[in-house]
Amino acid sequence: MIHNHFVYNFSSGPACLPAEVIAKIKADIPDWHQGVSVMEISHRSLKFMDLMQNAEHKLKKLLNIPDDFCILFMHGGARAQFAAVALNLFYQSSVVDYLLTGHWSEEARKEASKYINVHVAADGKTVAYKSIPKFSQADIHPDSKYVHYTDNETIHGIEFRETPNTKQLLIADMTSSILSKPIEWNKFALVYASAQKNLGIAGVTVVILRKSLLEQANPVTPAVMSYQTMAQTQSLYNTSPVFPIYVLNLILEWAEQLGGVPYFEAKAKRISSKLYQCIDESSLYTTPVDVEARSRMNVPFSLRTTEMEVDFLKRAEQQGLLALQGHRVVGGARASIYNAMPEEGVDALIAFMRAYERENN
Ligand SMILES: *Cc1c(COP(=O)(O)O)cnc(C)c1O
Repeated sequence: MIHNHFVYNFSSGPACLPAEVIAKIKADIPDWHQGVSVMEISHRSLKFMDLMQNAEHKLKKLLNIPDDFCILFMHGGARAQFAAVALNLFYQSSVVDYLLTGHWSEEARKEASKYINVHVAADGKTVAYKSIPKFSQADIHPDSKYVHYTDNETIHGIEFRETPNTKQLLIADMTSSILSKPIEWNKFALVYASAQKNLGIAGVTVVILRKSLLEQANPVTPAVMSYQTMAQTQSLYNTSPVFPIYVLNLILEWAEQLGGVPYFEAKAKRISSKLYQCIDESSLYTTPVDVEARSRMNVPFSLRTTEMEVDFLKRAEQQGLLALQGHRVVGGARASIYNAMPEEGVDALIAFMRAYERENN
């Protein structure tokens, strides 16, 4: 049913990979090294440990990570980190603060609340998840040790334009925005991101934290979730997700070759702006999010009626514009335009949206 030669995958995650990376994987699967597939090598083989070090160096360079931070490759996705940050860092704190801006920050708060007192400094519910709720230092609990926030709310399409200003160090879930902007490390205790949005395929989660924070874990922390254990073993405590880390390394290589974070930041600004412009100029499409909080990675939008949305999504799919349905929590449509989405994909989507509006408005 696909008429176009090209297919563009707007999935929110696992999301599209660069064509170059898929081609490289294809070549490496039967023979990565000495006739052996990358899927059948030991995580403790020199070749793989070398690859892991390479990935670490590239991340460090791409994100300008200072020497007093360490990089861990962990299991369990971002959701495991919702608990891990609480177990590893919050144990000795009486209270920590969470900024709630949508689905993922709320899920992170719920999980952390099992282990620690969570104070909510700002709640997006009060602004119907249309923008980032206003807050100041006065809204943060005076005894709070950390402030956790979700840099980009993948489902609601809300993104922090600037790093929050707090006296406390920050902990950020950057799963859906890492490598699309620089990170001001002096403000952070820890940043985590699972891989399947901007870093490759599901199965590995990157955790970047201050080395000075490695020794404050709750003694009941499971060893596989312990930052200290993972740091001491160079993330080789148990069997590493070898294939996802291999893909991550290819993604980082590809990102470096294109020009790194400055390249992706400029591209994200450019392609998201044209898509929002298309929505703003139309009388058929609307997006719920206020201009200053609009995500550059996930663009949610709706049509006039649910019936129209169903038809729009069906026809988009026939044109090779795939996975545009919104998350079941919010409905509507959503275009996820991560680093790997080619600019032509967004151009094709805009052309389709304009044509659909002309025919159906
Ligand atoms: C996708 C996503 C998650 C969930 O990640 P898992 O790896 O499935 O646990 C968490 N936070 C954000 C911001 C996400 O986009």
